[in-house]
Amino acid sequence: MNYTLNTLYCRDCGSTHVLAKAWVDPNTEKFDSLVTNPPDEEDGWCENCESNVELATIEILWNDFSQIPINGNDEIEEPFLFFEAGTSRFDVWHWFDERCPNGLAVDLMGETPNKNDS
Ligand SMILES: [Zn+2]
Repeated sequence: MNYTLNTLYCRDCGSTHVLAKAWVDPNTEKFDSLVTNPPDEEDGWCENCESNVELATIEILWNDFSQIPINGNDEIEEPFLFFEAGTSRFDVWHWFDERCPNGLAVDLMGETPNKNDS
């Protein structure tokens, strides 16, 4: 699957196997728009959690991750998405990095892609 910054994830487990309620033209059955964007807990569904969930972009998940306390050994102290407490923060960073088209540093940490451009 090709991830973009608009890809929506389950905010509870990080899965992209998600569904969202949408408006459809009843005459053509063509997709019109999502009912809420990003889908809230009423309009989002996760196939992995098998429950209604909020859906979120990678940026929202990154912001959620910034709230997770990290101990002196670089381990997360609370569960985050499918990562258990005690997971190395670098494993979590790797997960984010794989989902960023330009990499974690550029897409989420605000580094400029090419320092020679400025
Ligand atoms: Zn889920």
